[in-house]
Amino acid sequence: MKVLISEIPVEGLDFDIKETIKSDDLSSPVRGQLRILKIGAEVVVRGNLMADVELQCSRCMKDFRSEVSIPVDVIYHPVEELRGEEKHALRVEELDMGFYSGGILDLFDLIEEQIMLNLPMKPLCNELCKGICLKCGADLNAGDCACNEINKDSRFEELKKLLKE
Ligand SMILES: [Zn+2]
Ligand SMILES: [Zn+2]
Repeated sequence: MKVLISEIPVEGLDFDIKETIKSDDLSSPVRGQLRILKIGAEVVVRGNLMADVELQCSRCMKDFRSEVSIPVDVIYHPVEELRGEEKHALRVEELDMGFYSGGILDLFDLIEEQIMLNLPMKPLCNELCKGICLKCGADLNAGDCACNEINKDSRFEELKKLLKE
């Protein structure tokens, strides 16, 4: 979905997004609205997207799908604005700033970038996820593992011993 910058009218362009973004890192249905405005040589993209992404729970390591809300507010500058040295000084941390080149803005790239930026750092399949047992690797959401039983038993045995003494 490429947008020719020169064809953006003064009143801007509105896009209803209903696409599936597929890349090496992502396969995600996305929907929402984007508004594209041209201000001089700069292009402002604003809107809201909802992406259905596959995440891996940081506790139990299970894959799960989740809806992620993506607020979009990015200013694009023509990359031609930059001269040699500045190009090298460009940092990825400048999240709300992008560059377009050749007078074309690729909305797919933009959407993919915005999804990646909004993925949770420590996804949880469920707020109450119990994770996996560090000893045997069992999924504790499915119930206590044997390690836990052994611990409980030995504690109980010790208690019995104490009571006998
Ligand atoms: Zn989990
Ligand atoms: Zn265990």
